[in-house]
Amino acid sequence: MKGLSVIMGLVAAGIVATSCTPKTNSQTDGEPMTHLLLATGWFQQSAEMRACYYQSYTLAKMALKENLQNYKGTKPTAVVLDIDETVLDNSPFEAKLMGDRQNYSDSAWMAWSAREEALALPGAAEFIAYARELGVEVFFISNRILEERDRTLRNLASAGMAVDSAHLLLYDLSKKTSCKDERRSLVSESHEILLFIGDNLGDYTSLFDRRDSRLALHLADSLRDDFGRKFIILPNPMYGEWENAIYDHNYKLPMAEKNRMMLDLLRK
Ligand SMILES: [Mg+2]
Repeated sequence: MKGLSVIMGLVAAGIVATSCTPKTNSQTDGEPMTHLLLATGWFQQSAEMRACYYQSYTLAKMALKENLQNYKGTKPTAVVLDIDETVLDNSPFEAKLMGDRQNYSDSAWMAWSAREEALALPGAAEFIAYARELGVEVFFISNRILEERDRTLRNLASAGMAVDSAHLLLYDLSKKTSCKDERRSLVSESHEILLFIGDNLGDYTSLFDRRDSRLALHLADSLRDDFGRKFIILPNPMYGEWENAIYDHNYKLPMAEKNRMMLDLLRK
């Protein structure tokens, strides 16, 4: 998930508190995460998912090339990608939780990321190689925490997406926010960012970090011209800020209550 998810336990514990910190599907009611079964099945075992990723990264190549051709400035150019469910596939982590009838926990996530077994998502490694062929630098901005730096560098390398530490910007817990704005600004100081890629709209702008009852649907509409041009969004039905907003950010509610809120919300 879930660098960002690792943080959620801290948020729940009151260690981290910020309006910019996304929530995840962490649960504390002891119910297994069976609601993830269909989403994880689709993500991991459907040809449609693979086609979506290939499609997205093909579009990313086209957008990057066009944006590079249109850029007349002198700064070095860059593309910024999220990691989890953007270039690395952590669906086995979700599957293992369900198989073990366990809920998400920070320790479970850290045990998974320590295995360094996440595979590259379809099209991701090819896109990164393409960007570098164009002379565009590749930065990763992820909410994995600093403690995960070495394992993440090794996992990216084994998945065919090696990067040096200077191009990997992780979540510094001392900043007390997992919002990516500061790290995006840091890259922008020295580089022209031509394209962002992620599975969460917060990977593009913090406007989507804390969504109200309108669920930011109107914001997505207002930014419609950016999608496919400045930001490539990848499909993640397993977790994300979209889900937390539906629960009014009360992610600690019992599963039955969250299911009721979801059903009540749906158009029928
Ligand atoms: Mg992600």
